[in-house]
Amino acid sequence: MRRRKRRQSRSKRIATLIVLSAIAISLGIATIVSYAGGTFSGTAFVATTLSLMAVFTITAIVLSTPTVKGKIGEARVSRRLKKLAKKNGGQVFDNVIIPGENDKTSQIDHIYVCNYGVFVVETKNYAGRIYGNDNQKYWKQVLAYGHSKNELYNPVKQNITHIIRLKEIIKMDISPISVIVFVKANTDFIESDYVYRISDLKYLLNDMEKTLDDNAVENICTTITEYKLNPVKTDKEHIQEIKQMKQDIDNNICPRCGGELVLRKGTNGSFYGCSNYPKCKFTKKA
Ligand SMILES: [Zn+2]
Repeated sequence: MRRRKRRQSRSKRIATLIVLSAIAISLGIATIVSYAGGTFSGTAFVATTLSLMAVFTITAIVLSTPTVKGKIGEARVSRRLKKLAKKNGGQVFDNVIIPGENDKTSQIDHIYVCNYGVFVVETKNYAGRIYGNDNQKYWKQVLAYGHSKNELYNPVKQNITHIIRLKEIIKMDISPISVIVFVKANTDFIESDYVYRISDLKYLLNDMEKTLDDNAVENICTTITEYKLNPVKTDKEHIQEIKQMKQDIDNNICPRCGGELVLRKGTNGSFYGCSNYPKCKFTKKA
């Protein structure tokens, strides 16, 4: 608890420092600009200060949007993986879209292929403390000392789906390794061997054995490269697909098979299940 508090006040200090630096830089440049004609121009000083402040504010707002934050997080993970590849060989692929079930697609954040295996990496940008284990369907995110709680779909389960899809396109008898990276959340309360903090990625290959020969690595890389060059769907189409899926779920249509989601009573309370059960096991919360 103490450690958390200190960490938070440090990030607050860093934020204050950044804001003060932005103000100082703005005033400094404004001073230089306003002396450009040889004499001091008050109008130029005010105009430059205001426009620089606006630029800094807009940049800060853009950088704090979830999409941009997500992209920054993914770029950081990609850099770490590429460092590993530089040292240990192999290749890193970012944002790979492959076929999923029923004409849907699966989007994999990163795949690292090397002699040590095929690492399927899912990046998560959540903040706060995360609670969960391999078996739970949903994990919990706790923010602001417990004042705010959210649920997220268990990323270990999410990545299992990615691995199944990837195996289908690789068509080799291999067992891809699941890696979930939390870029900034506190992962101390997660019970899973698949979860890494970004700073621990450098230990990813520790105690690992080489299981793939160069030929296998090359074949797998060729297959993934083909999907990168001729994507089954573009990023935009994949995002549209996810939106459609959410809409279907809201309208009680099963996103997996198109069946109807019907209210059922279970031992742990009511829930919506697919009308095609037991063939389809999709459920949503009541
Ligand atoms: Zn269904």
